[in-house]
Amino acid sequence: MTLAIYPGSFDPITNGHLDIACRAARLFDKVVIGVYDTPSRNLMFNTQDRVDLVRQSIDNYPNLEVQPFTGLVVDFARHLGARAIVRGLRAVTDFENEFEMAMMNKKLAPDCDVICLMANLKYAFLSATLIREVARLGGNIDDLVPLPVAAALKKKITA
Ligand code: ADP
Repeated sequence: MTLAIYPGSFDPITNGHLDIACRAARLFDKVVIGVYDTPSRNLMFNTQDRVDLVRQSIDNYPNLEVQPFTGLVVDFARHLGARAIVRGLRAVTDFENEFEMAMMNKKLAPDCDVICLMANLKYAFLSATLIREVARLGGNIDDLVPLPVAAALKKKITA
């Protein structure tokens, strides 16, 4: 069985993330979405909420799973026996960062490869940061995030 991981902060998961995960699920037997426990940025949702929102968003995809992880992505990959790390590329600005991380990951784990999928044109401008900001300011993000995420954002903002 060929397994891949798709790591990220997913604060919260967007349709752009989901598009990458679903496309990866067509290429691998199983894809585990890894929700990074402790990113350096300020989070809107805690780890449990981010994992729950991913889980609710991937209900219809039998070979997609979600797990939180802490520490190095390559250790998470090794722990699961994953041969590939999936990432999404939106623009040239993503490339530099992804390239640097991929080089380091290859050094740390030579038998694991990074697979980058190009963003869907519909979601090429979309980031979780932008979603949080627009939602906070009362903009409509309903067709940019899975339904459970739209509901969670509304609840968080009116709380
Ligand atoms: P973000 O950059 O939105 O805060 P993450 O840090 O959780 O998201 O990113 C996880 C992975 O998903 C990264 O490889 C990132 O480039 C990719 N990604 C994020 N948003 C999109 C999108 N709209 N389309 C394709 N890939 C994306």
